[in-house]
Amino acid sequence: MKLREILTLRNLPALSPNQLLLLTVAYLALTQNLSLFSAILNSLPRPMGGQEWRILASTVFALVALLTTAMAGFCLPRVQKPALVVFVLVAATSSYFMRSFGTVIDKGMIANALNTNIGEASDLLSIDFFMHVLLFGALPAWIITRVPLRFARFSIELRRRLALVGIMLGGLIIILFSQYNALSFWGRQNREVRLYVNPTAPMYALKEMVADLLPKGPPPPLLIVAPDAVRQGSADAKPLLVVLVVGETGRAANFGINGYERNTTPRLSAIPELINYPDFESCGTATLESVPCIFSRLNQSDFSRKKAGAEENLLDIVKRTGVPVIWRDNNAGCMGACVRTGMISLEFEKDPVLCADGECHDNILLKDFNTVLPQSAGSATFLVLHQKGSHGPAYFKRYPESARHFTPDCRIESVQRCTREEVINAYDNTIVYTDSMLADLIEQLRSHQDSVNSVMIYVSDHGESLGENGIFLHGLPRGLAPDEQTHVPMMAWFSAQAPAALNLDLACVKAASIKSGSHDNLFDSILNLLSIRTAAYKPAQDLFAACQKN
Ligand SMILES: [Zn+2]
Repeated sequence: MKLREILTLRNLPALSPNQLLLLTVAYLALTQNLSLFSAILNSLPRPMGGQEWRILASTVFALVALLTTAMAGFCLPRVQKPALVVFVLVAATSSYFMRSFGTVIDKGMIANALNTNIGEASDLLSIDFFMHVLLFGALPAWIITRVPLRFARFSIELRRRLALVGIMLGGLIIILFSQYNALSFWGRQNREVRLYVNPTAPMYALKEMVADLLPKGPPPPLLIVAPDAVRQGSADAKPLLVVLVVGETGRAANFGINGYERNTTPRLSAIPELINYPDFESCGTATLESVPCIFSRLNQSDFSRKKAGAEENLLDIVKRTGVPVIWRDNNAGCMGACVRTGMISLEFEKDPVLCADGECHDNILLKDFNTVLPQSAGSATFLVLHQKGSHGPAYFKRYPESARHFTPDCRIESVQRCTREEVINAYDNTIVYTDSMLADLIEQLRSHQDSVNSVMIYVSDHGESLGENGIFLHGLPRGLAPDEQTHVPMMAWFSAQAPAALNLDLACVKAASIKSGSHDNLFDSILNLLSIRTAAYKPAQDLFAACQKN
């Protein structure tokens, strides 16, 4: 063969459809499923004995059988090559994210990707990504298109395909029966491993996602939650502002106030009346789950986006009692929570100090703060500030120079090219900036406390992995998610006269803050802070009820 023939892949040997199928399966199994193999190996006890090796061998065969069966139906003239090309491209795209961030591509992850904005998405699409897809996707895909395929008569091909699939499934059945005990026990404990099978798991997730998006008749009427809700405030009381800061990607372990070895929260730690909740858990591991969950009466155990979307949430109830709801957003939106109550997006403001390159630092949420304060006696306002917080992987974009306490900090989007120390430095700087933003907010509230009582609650939507066990970012299914993704910071602050106005014993609240809590507590706690009475309120879930006099 001449060099030119080699470079243009002309005169490749002709293959039968089964041969091209098996070569593609071998390529995908060997090069695009490394995350699957490391997940399986991690799940097996060491040292590996005969049983562990049998489980490993069985799962490898199962992978080959699954990929072969999934692709066999597409092995028709004019269909096989485009289909295999799609499989290979999806596999290469998925394997990049799985290897780089230790994640899986499930329905939730695809939904997250579709709900992030262009800025966040482009943070993930680095040069490394394009090189990876070119090398492991486009190159083998091109080779597939160059292979001459020789189809026999339809009846012969049908028999060949059925024979191949029969061998694969027959082998799988024999393995399942002969290794039933070991495999069923291992499989039950490691159900989530199936999410790593590439590319069938991401393709299945994509199919599910598309099915969700297709119109399915008129939506059911919105379920009215707490139709009896009324606010019981005294008409001559000082106006009340309840501020809920919904943090982004803050993980509790990196907050100095929670005992982190670095003092990432110097200003908050110096506020003696601040109440810290060191043991607080998030509902989900991604914004799209956690944000609606925070405002839903549903608890983590029975929460689903679909269920929550079909009924009113905290914002609706508060608004219905006559309390204005203001949602200021510096993130990618309220994830459906504020669909009936509205939102003010400050993400693309043009403030010369706080904004640059199409995004703003979180202090933009405090802009013209006087305008959100309730004015008249007896009134209240519920203000939600939705931060950009510590959203990665481009952590360095989330803080100004003044918060750059820890250096060298990773200043590129491809975090996997930075050292772990640089990544952690950049992440910790985002916490330093959140510390300063929250302290600025408390200063604002304090400066108005003679005319407005206020309560501030800060809680993050979920945590973040920073390379522990090779896992980065967040969004793993809850069953797989490490503590770093679910253990979140949570704090409360009351202005000087707010506890008395709410009949709260602050010392008692402080003493109770060491108990474990979760996003499940917020719905009821905020109803109570706003003095909203309803049968839907569950005092056992209220962080403050036990410390209320009368
Ligand atoms: Zn988030």
